Amino acid sequence: MSLAAIAAAAIAIGVSMSFFNAAGQLPGVDRADAVPVDDGETGEISLTEPISPFDDAHVAVARLDPALREAVQSAASDAAADGVELLLTSGWRSADYQAMLLRDAVDEYGSESAAREFVSTPEGSRHVSGEAVDIARVDPALWLEQYGSAYGLCRVYANESWHFELATTPGTECPPMLADASEAG
Ligand SMILES: [Zn+2]
Repeated sequence: MSLAAIAAAAIAIGVSMSFFNAAGQLPGVDRADAVPVDDGETGEISLTEPISPFDDAHVAVARLDPALREAVQSAASDAAADGVELLLTSGWRSADYQAMLLRDAVDEYGSESAAREFVSTPEGSRHVSGEAVDIARVDPALWLEQYGSAYGLCRVYANESWHFELATTPGTECPPMLADASEAG
């Protein structure tokens, strides 16, 4: 297979995944099943030390959906040319780590329903399936909100300016935002 054919195939896969995300289906189910989640890795990233989307020695990056990882990397390269540094505070997370974050949020917000506006269940989280990234700091997140659709990347929640997923075909408009993570199921 020629390099051009491989590239074309990769683009076709990326586009179809974006299509399924935009249609609100569950593209992560098969992938999540394939990811080894019980090996003790959590994917935790220190809030004070966000990591580069090119840091694929970190499981938070290594276990991302490859199409998402590539999209974030190309956005990060273009952002860098604009003098904006795109770094991640979260990428892939283990189901156990997601469950812990939800328990912490229930403690913090006082109820499961309040917590669910900010933190998904292990079953529902797009981080656990490797299909979401959180961007460090306000200005880089705003850059990605403005330019992300060129890469298929969209802010999906009105109350989370930092959380992005592949949610549109690159170069087309992002779908309307959901109010919060509790609407994603
Ligand atoms: Zn997130």
